[in-house]
Amino acid sequence: MWPIEPDEFEPQHIEPDDADHGDAWYFVFSRGEIVCRTEGGVLEPVTADDFRWFDMEVSSKHFLGHYLNRPCFAVAASGSTAQGFSSMGLRNLLGRTNQSIFYLAGRAQQVIEWHETHQFCGRCGTEMSDHHMDRAKQCSSCKLINYPRLSPSIIVLVTRGDEMLLARNAAWPNGMYSTLAGFVEPGESIEQTVHREVFEEVGLRVGELRYFGSQSWPFPNSLMLGFHAEYGSGDIVCQEEEIADAQWFKQDNLPQIPPKTAISGWLIQEFMDRER
Ligand SMILES: [Zn+2]
Repeated sequence: MWPIEPDEFEPQHIEPDDADHGDAWYFVFSRGEIVCRTEGGVLEPVTADDFRWFDMEVSSKHFLGHYLNRPCFAVAASGSTAQGFSSMGLRNLLGRTNQSIFYLAGRAQQVIEWHETHQFCGRCGTEMSDHHMDRAKQCSSCKLINYPRLSPSIIVLVTRGDEMLLARNAAWPNGMYSTLAGFVEPGESIEQTVHREVFEEVGLRVGELRYFGSQSWPFPNSLMLGFHAEYGSGDIVCQEEEIADAQWFKQDNLPQIPPKTAISGWLIQEFMDRER
């Protein structure tokens, strides 16, 4: 069920001598968008051979590893592409391409974003250098090391019998309901985050938690850890300004929910499959 099988992608950050050949995949990002081959209606990454035809200037390039023996690079560039290629937000790839490509593109975007926002030491202001072994940057003056930043978050489907608690975030378009979610705070365990977020967002206490799985969510750098939780006690009280509405729903009366490409959609689907 998980998108990239462990034997499909071998991450590396030291580029081997022969990696940058014509068939290598370039995950090219320009002004926050990824450049894709769109010929034939199938979205694919650009190859190194394709890239040669673009009128683009590379600002940074990072070796990511091998996907099914094909070298993969994250490339930050600006300029214009060629016919048969177009740029789009990463979200547009979800559900429209091979899942592995989406997660590799998310990896590429996060490495580029980290590189661009960690040029100087946050402690002493000296220019940072690439670490000689790890995917890390080190300050030559005070020796501070920065690794790519991830923000762990929980996402939880609270259930009561055959009912699911779904909520509508105040910032979402009308009609969309989903599971509850929130960022882990420093000092918290993941389980504590689940209990705190559910109570803060809808005023309920939950009982037993069951870990479901995780999803890399590169908007911009989340790692979503998914749980099922049994309702414990309390009545729904929506958090002001955050949650516009929250209700108990049964399978036969569902509102608009997220697609199965998102872990929120998987959580809902798995519960419904289990109840059937
Ligand atoms: Zn420093």
